[in-house]
Amino acid sequence: MRANIKRNGQRRVVIVGGGLGGLKLASSLRDTDYQVVLVDKNNYNQFPPLIYQVASAGLEPSNIAFPFRRLFQNRKNFFFRMAEVQRIDTEEKAILTSIGTIHYDDLVLAAGATTNFFGNKNIEASALSMKTVGEAMRLRNTILQNLERAETEDDEVKRQRLLTIAIVGGGPSGVEIAGALAEMRRTIIPRDYPDLNASEMHIYLINAGPRLLGAMDEKSSHKAEKALKELGVEIIADCRVTDYQNHSLILEDGDFIHAETVIWVSGIKANRIEGIPVESIGHGGRILTDSFNRVKGMTNVYAIGDQCLVEGDEAYPQGHPQLAQVALQQAANVARNLIAAGRGRSARPFVYRNPGTMATIGRKKAVVEIGKLKFGGFFAWLLWLVVHLRSILGVRNKTVVFLNWMWNYFNYKQSLRLILKAES
Ligand SMILES: Cc1cc2nc3c(=O)[nH]c(=O)nc-3n(C[C@H](O)[C@H](O)[C@H](O)COP(=O)(O)OP(=O)(O)OC[C@H]3O[C@@H](n4cnc5c(N)ncnc54)[C@H](O)[C@@H]3O)c2cc1C
Repeated sequence: MRANIKRNGQRRVVIVGGGLGGLKLASSLRDTDYQVVLVDKNNYNQFPPLIYQVASAGLEPSNIAFPFRRLFQNRKNFFFRMAEVQRIDTEEKAILTSIGTIHYDDLVLAAGATTNFFGNKNIEASALSMKTVGEAMRLRNTILQNLERAETEDDEVKRQRLLTIAIVGGGPSGVEIAGALAEMRRTIIPRDYPDLNASEMHIYLINAGPRLLGAMDEKSSHKAEKALKELGVEIIADCRVTDYQNHSLILEDGDFIHAETVIWVSGIKANRIEGIPVESIGHGGRILTDSFNRVKGMTNVYAIGDQCLVEGDEAYPQGHPQLAQVALQQAANVARNLIAAGRGRSARPFVYRNPGTMATIGRKKAVVEIGKLKFGGFFAWLLWLVVHLRSILGVRNKTVVFLNWMWNYFNYKQSLRLILKAES
């Protein structure tokens, strides 16, 4: 099989992964002398910060995803190939993919990260992760299906198990999905499932560390914890999950939680691509680069975003946080350096400018930290709303999401709760 991209005399940049970083890089090389080849295993870009809203039936997948071919219509120096990248052949200056070989002059790895189950096979086999739109759909179907089953289940123990959701991981994803599901229990269950007793539904949030949102200020953690408790989320702190067997989640203190739905948002590891020297792989599988995002021990190969770990930044000795802004800023810097190289100018090292962090809790609260400014509540939620709305691709998607949020805010009567399964 051949990937079928003709050389046109331009220098070719191949980008592996069209997530936040890869897409920003491809867009930044628009109207330059580079031929850009974007390779992604999906035919769309997705916006991860709103995946939890798809999982909790607040948004449709199409609201937070956008097809690459639509984004780059009529662009002459751009090629998209839907393919899974498996290996890099540095001798040949090529990547080996599920559709064949693609040669590069410059290669940028932006394949992101995936869920880390820390080697626990039982948890990996039975818990649900929440990193992609596809996984969010699976989670949404499972939750809705379990509610349908619970409504007709006479056995009290089984019904209780169907109505119990355990979320493992107290970072932003865990806090956000816990809040969204608690709102769902409060507002949707009594209306959609009149034969169910909403108070029988339990939502547990289990965190290995002593406080939620461990990367944020202590005050933000307390605000998040208080808001979630008010919504009825049962928080278990300072406790590791050791196993999940026969619908029982086993905690390190020997306790059990009987739950049919376990959401694992407890850790990530960089996606792996063969052909990178072992000494260039750091903790969490992250690819080690210098401050110009050049992969250690490789030539003309860069790595950006969640998949990489830039060494040498004294402010971030463990590497930059795996966040959207890091991926976007690294992509912009690599694009600038590639363009500069073409013009014989020198490259600029990557310096991260932290614009702040935020997380939502439920339908109308959030916590925000911008420099020394730290606040929570309704205004934090409004800011969260504006920032995320600006980042969603496409005018139609922005409009639909905005209307959805407003509708949801005033009456919570949207009807996205379909159990949609692909038939084989
Ligand atoms: C649920 C969730 C919520 C988040 N919320 C926030 C938030 O609120 N704020 C924030 O700053 N950050 C948030 N993040 C983190 C943020 O989304 C990431 O830091 C960011 O997406 C990293 O960008 P990236 O380009 O490195 O990778 P990604 O955006 O993950 O893109 C990776 C791309 O590579 C493709 N790919 C992977 N492997 C292959 C392969 N072998 N071959 C071909 N293609 C491949 C994937 O299909 C994907 O398109 C969240 C992440 C998740 C999962």
